[in-house]
Amino acid sequence: MKECLSSKVLPKPEKQKSGADRPENWQVTEKQKKQIEELQKRNFKLQQAYQWGGEPERKHTKNIFNDEVLICDLLCFHHPLVLEALKKKIKAYMEYEGIAGIAFDAIGYQNYYDCKCPASLKLYKEYCEKNKLKPTPKAWKEFSFKTLIDFNNALVDYVHQLNPQAKTFNHIWPVYLPEPLYGNRLKMDFCGQTAAWYFYWDPLRIEQYSRKISVSQKKYWPNANGVAFIGYFDPMKHDMQFPYKSPAKVESELRAILKGGSRMLMVCGLADVLNNQDIAAVFKKFMKVNNKKDLKQ
Ligand SMILES: [Zn+2]
Repeated sequence: MKECLSSKVLPKPEKQKSGADRPENWQVTEKQKKQIEELQKRNFKLQQAYQWGGEPERKHTKNIFNDEVLICDLLCFHHPLVLEALKKKIKAYMEYEGIAGIAFDAIGYQNYYDCKCPASLKLYKEYCEKNKLKPTPKAWKEFSFKTLIDFNNALVDYVHQLNPQAKTFNHIWPVYLPEPLYGNRLKMDFCGQTAAWYFYWDPLRIEQYSRKISVSQKKYWPNANGVAFIGYFDPMKHDMQFPYKSPAKVESELRAILKGGSRMLMVCGLADVLNNQDIAAVFKKFMKVNNKKDLKQ
């Protein structure tokens, strides 16, 4: 994850009338604003040669550029060998003594919507035949979403098949743009969903995301727990690819998460938090003392 730019969109440039429309704790300085503009320009350059979802190079953007782009390659989970290879890995990890569970990340579509590689197209053809569906944009969309959920759930089932007591974790990333907060549809015991990203999000949006994560956490699976994810990177340690977040900014984001109702937190990168005394102190304010009983739930 560290090598990649974020999969979420940057805030759109604000309409400059006065400061009145801006949330009071937005806290973005002029210097930070310039940095965001630079990041956006860099993303435009990256996208020109970027292959999104199996389609031929330079055929994806149709003159539309996103504010952000995923620049690392992902395996296509539609290929049967991917699940097979992951199961082998999971089995090997689960054989270690004392392993309590497995945490996943980076399961999704490189273009945030779908994949058009030969393995995906083959699976889609089979899907339509099996369900007696005519290939339509609607069927394609449903296929893309359903297979994303099913793949995640197949991983959970496999972990529980090896050890029913083992816990499964996931962080929803890259984003699935048609439904960014789909994590409650997964059987994961603890599903991290982005409430606050590495870039500046409006605290009201953070609060709303946190509320959705918490309110819908058991909508589909009674054992699932929704976890609010917050991104924090020290830009100095990541080639200045991420904007600087002050302790006050981090505090306003954690407060918005708390206000939204989420009571569990996932953070990346933890080392950057721990290596910055001021940021670590802010996180500490919001954490309760570790209680082993809670982990056994
Ligand atoms: Zn594919």
